[in-house]
Amino acid sequence: MIIAIDGPAASGKSTSARLLADELDFLYLDTGAMYRCIALSVTENKVDIYNQLSLESFIGDFNLELHTVDGISDFLINGASVSEKIRTNAVSKKVSEISAIPMIRKYMVKMQREFAKNNNCVVEGRDIGTVVFPQAEIKFFITASVEVRAKRRQLELQNIGDKIALKDLQDDIRARDRYDSERAHSPLKKAFDAIEIDTTEITIDEQVRYMIKNVKLNNK
Ligand code: C5P
Repeated sequence: MIIAIDGPAASGKSTSARLLADELDFLYLDTGAMYRCIALSVTENKVDIYNQLSLESFIGDFNLELHTVDGISDFLINGASVSEKIRTNAVSKKVSEISAIPMIRKYMVKMQREFAKNNNCVVEGRDIGTVVFPQAEIKFFITASVEVRAKRRQLELQNIGDKIALKDLQDDIRARDRYDSERAHSPLKKAFDAIEIDTTEITIDEQVRYMIKNVKLNNK
């Protein structure tokens, strides 16, 4: 069974997806983290993403692994953990442009389908219910106001020692929303059969309980 969770940046997808997977004893896949990994690597290796041959050669050598221990996911590039590095604001600023490239999406979608094959899995991202798993048994689309999302993001960044002004984060989130929703390939979009949840004024606990109730109703 696949549970697809989509929505804009910092809408509360990751926290609820992780808790949902935990509660249901499902695997958890954060596809945003996968795009962050490739964005980090492309940047560090100064790859020209608009040059077909350079990108092809880079993807041919790119080695991304996901290790999950006790429900905690760790992403490794060429054997080195990058789980903390991919959360910085510098990576957030670059990731949307890089993830709009069709060759990169093709590579990622293949990996995501492989990961979830024959597993019960909660998968979160932007195009999960529309493109990666359109047949998912249950789909959620999570939203929240830009102000609340920026505040949540600020707290996350504080935890890794990145101090960014709220106004800058609001601008970054608006820019990322626009980029992700307007790109030609697999834009951020609510699947027609997704359940929409606005998390602006609800707690994470209420959100997860509502999601579990819907999963159970769907399984009857
Ligand atoms: O979810 P998160 O904010 O970490 O995602 C980072 C970025 O990765 C998004 O802003 C988007 O550009 C890209 N992404 C995507 N497709 C997905 C998941 C994330 O294009 N399925």
